[in-house]
Amino acid sequence: APPLVVEHIAKSYVSGSKVTPVIGDLSFTLGRGEIISVVGPSGCGKSTLLNVICGLIRPDAGSIRYHGRDLKGQQSSMGYMLQKDLLLPWRSALANVMLGTEIRGVPRRRGEERARALLDQLGLDGFADNYPATLSGGMRQRVALARTLVNDPDVLLLDEPFAALDFQTKLLIEGDTVRLVRDGQRSVLLITHDIEEAVSIADRVLVLSQRPTRIKASYQVSLDCA
Ligand code: ADP
Ligand code: ADP
Repeated sequence: APPLVVEHIAKSYVSGSKVTPVIGDLSFTLGRGEIISVVGPSGCGKSTLLNVICGLIRPDAGSIRYHGRDLKGQQSSMGYMLQKDLLLPWRSALANVMLGTEIRGVPRRRGEERARALLDQLGLDGFADNYPATLSGGMRQRVALARTLVNDPDVLLLDEPFAALDFQTKLLIEGDTVRLVRDGQRSVLLITHDIEEAVSIADRVLVLSQRPTRIKASYQVSLDCA
């Protein structure tokens, strides 16, 4: 079964008597090793979609199947990364990356080895003991990327992870991310408002419509034009 199958998802927010329909009827499949970018107007429901997929929000209708299993609103082992790095300021870079392995109960030595290896691969070998406040924005986002990858998730959900970075840093981290993702044959759903980023990184671009949100178009990105 493909890693992720999203079928007929619908979601409205309700507060008091006010109902805001956000996602209409949305379906797609993310294949193994596939990178899909999701673009669409601000407020159309991209973050909502990602939160539904990772189990933070329950959809009103539809199903999310992860390797053929219906998640029924439960959280899965997918990796999740946001624009804000959400690093814990009182923990070193290494200890931030190791959070994931601690939560999973991975033995400390093995968790540390894995975390250090990832920091090395992301060019942060000399910064394992640094606290987030002493790192640049780009370095912090690399730490967040390492934390997302530390448990080897085969599906990554990335919500505008590069949006706050300056252009040069963004290009470097995009490159690192794609390399690590392709090496591990991981599948990625990348939300972005940057159409150039969407096209340069992804195998396929999904364009969402205004609310209620549906898939308006799906483009296969060919290597020739990327
Ligand atoms: P995007 O990520 O595409 O900018 P969001 O998923 O963040 O869109 O939001 C989609 C719509 O849902 C927006 O109109 C937003 O104001 C509304 N919304 C998001 N979260 C909530 C919430 N918890 N309660 C009510 N409305 C919300
Ligand atoms: P940005 O500051 O735009 O986020 P990067 O994260 O790519 O850019 O950092 C650029 C380079 O600057 C890094 O490769 C690193 O060598 C150096 N650097 C950034 N922050 C620090 C720091 N706190 N201590 C030492 N070197 C740093």
